[in-house]
Amino acid sequence: MSRAPAPDPGPDESLAKPFRLILLTIGTTLAVVGVLYLLSGKPRTGSVGVSLAATTVVAWGLLERGRFAIASGVFFYALALGLLAFLWTGYGVRDYGILGYAALLFAGCVFLSARAYWGLAALVLAGVGAFGVAELAGVVRNSFSSHVTALSLTSLLLVLAASAAGGRVLMHAMRSSAARARELSGALGDSEAALQRVFRSSQSALSVSRLADGLYLDVNDAFLGMFGMRREQVIGRTSTEIGIWGDPRDRERFVQVLRERRVVRDLDLRLHRSSGEAMECQLSGEVLEVGGEPCVLSSVADVTARRSAERRARFLSTRDPLTGLPNRVLALDRLQQAVERARRIGACVALVHVGIDRFKAVNESLGHDAGDAVLREAVARIGHAIGEGDTLARVAGDEFLVIAQSVRDAADADRLAHAVMATFDTPFTVEGRTARVACTAGVALCPDDSTEAQALLRQAESAMHFGKAAAPGTCRRFEPAMAERIRDQLFVETSLRQGLAAGELRLLYQPKFDLKTGRVAGLEALCRWTHPELGEVHPARFVAIAEQSDLIRELGRWVLAECCAQVARWRREGRAVVPVAVNLSARQLAPDLPGIIADCVRAAAIEPSDLEIEVTEGMLIANPEATRRVLEDVARAGTRIVLDDFGVGYSSLGYVKHLPLQGLKIDRTFVRDIAEGGNDGAIVTAIVTLAHGLGLRVVAEGVETAAQREAIARLGCDEGQGYHFSHPVEGAEVAARFLSP
Ligand code: C2E
Ligand code: MG
Ligand code: MG
Repeated sequence: MSRAPAPDPGPDESLAKPFRLILLTIGTTLAVVGVLYLLSGKPRTGSVGVSLAATTVVAWGLLERGRFAIASGVFFYALALGLLAFLWTGYGVRDYGILGYAALLFAGCVFLSARAYWGLAALVLAGVGAFGVAELAGVVRNSFSSHVTALSLTSLLLVLAASAAGGRVLMHAMRSSAARARELSGALGDSEAALQRVFRSSQSALSVSRLADGLYLDVNDAFLGMFGMRREQVIGRTSTEIGIWGDPRDRERFVQVLRERRVVRDLDLRLHRSSGEAMECQLSGEVLEVGGEPCVLSSVADVTARRSAERRARFLSTRDPLTGLPNRVLALDRLQQAVERARRIGACVALVHVGIDRFKAVNESLGHDAGDAVLREAVARIGHAIGEGDTLARVAGDEFLVIAQSVRDAADADRLAHAVMATFDTPFTVEGRTARVACTAGVALCPDDSTEAQALLRQAESAMHFGKAAAPGTCRRFEPAMAERIRDQLFVETSLRQGLAAGELRLLYQPKFDLKTGRVAGLEALCRWTHPELGEVHPARFVAIAEQSDLIRELGRWVLAECCAQVARWRREGRAVVPVAVNLSARQLAPDLPGIIADCVRAAAIEPSDLEIEVTEGMLIANPEATRRVLEDVARAGTRIVLDDFGVGYSSLGYVKHLPLQGLKIDRTFVRDIAEGGNDGAIVTAIVTLAHGLGLRVVAEGVETAAQREAIARLGCDEGQGYHFSHPVEGAEVAARFLSP
């Protein structure tokens, strides 16, 4: 940017100082003389003197503000005016020359501002001026007395002096304004060329068109590229003719705003390419004068891609990409509306939270693509089961939510939940394979359970989780106690996760004894957790909670690693090591189990045969074929597998013969009353006979008394475990008491 030029001091500013002195002297003299005339009874002459003194003060003021030339002009002109007033009042001489002078000054100023109608006014006044000067000349020629002539001449001289001073001002002003105009026009010329270049090469689509009819005067290459047109197709034709408007009313809207405000910014509309393809555009425009005619400089931005990305982002933020269903965010919004409406009209809203049971297993066994296909199919089926105005949302990977406004009461809601669950009865067929998938549902009702959307959402979810834990495949209505239980479970789960990392867990070991030799035949690792606030948490509680999530796999891995590390320590101490059994949970019986065991064994540098695993019947029955493959891998590596808690579950040995088992533990409920005689003895005998027939060793657990020990030994059990022999104890104690070197 160029700097603003320094202010021009104007001509003859050096004369200002003496002139100021002259003005002061004349002004004071005139004022004094005027007042004296007034006092001596000559008011006409007195008032002329006083008014001249006042004019001098005005001139002085102008001078003080640095306007020397104007000040001097005003002063001389006033002096001439004073003399002529004197001639007029004293001798009846009228002189229009003074008027002519004013007219001349005015005409000069007008030419500077160069406005056509002011020019006309200046011509008229210049005429009056010429007339005034001519008359003054006449007064001089036809003078009737010598002192009138002298006064007239003085007046003329003063007018000329004032003209000289005023003329200087005008000349100077004219010169500087002409120079500025030259500068400006040069700059304008340069900037016009630059503007042309910018217009042509701009990446934005620019056009100049007539405001009145939209006729294009010029467009740039970006414009032609955007609309897929050639220059000759556009120039000289209107925007309507070349057919760019998606909706002709858009042009009216654009032009109307331009007429009102002369500028439009980012008007959103649809425009068409020559191919007919629609674009989402932002149109901006500004009114310009081109050759005295109002035109529009417009720029068009194609925002189709941006808009579609924005729409997609909006969609994704509220929708599940796999199924296109509303996600949790949108579901909550819909629920809020439904609850609001229900409150207004006194209606009912039911929430059915549906969770697919063991969906992870579906994913693992059939693959993720098949899992996705099952989800999509489930959505289609649920969609058919619910009402027209009901909302179906996907609120988690394998969880859906139905917001039903078509229900009247709890019984209705229950019917809906069962209808939704029944859609899972038919097996799902994916890529020619069939998968049986079941689900569990939780129901919450507005206004019965809550009139608050967030709370209802939590309640339905709690009911579903509660159902999953207690009886998968069922439907549960929310009860206030559930919330507390679930909160409690959540607390335990979080604490356990932290406890695992903080080393709050440890293993105890309980020995198993060979009933014939009385020697330690093996150990069982049992997990213990001491929480800083809760104290000792029973494994039955924390294992059950961990089993509801993948936390159990983390816990199981820690138990295996810790157990292997303990065996390695005993080995280093030179102890006589016996196999140590680790209890597994269902979720651990996954294809990665053999690898996990191998890793732990390798890391501790022990043998796979130093480990045993205990599994329960329930874990084997759910997915017999996959489980068999996993167990075979484990057994092949050399780790023994024992069936725990036998007798309380399915108690069927039919499938046992297909599995690589080496042992069987009879549940302690059979051992408890065994010494008293009765049925239990007969059952134990039957189990022992069958197990031995399959080549399995039989362990009786929960042996608390010598009588029980004697009974199990008599009935043919091979090993015994229980408080009678030893409670579960710390690793060091086990070593000291039972693992003699
Ligand atoms: P379990 O595998 O049947 O373990 C035997 C349970 O019986 C142990 O309870 C043990 O302390 C208890 N017990 C031993 N002798 C007697 C006795 O003479 N009388 C009575 N009444 N009880 C006796 P614990 O340690 O409380 O473990 C309970 C259950 O928790 C275990 O049952 C097992 O299923 C599970 N568990 C323990 N540790 C782990 C683990 O690390 N992983 C997994 N998945 N489960 C574990
Ligand atoms: Mg066990
Ligand atoms: Mg047991």
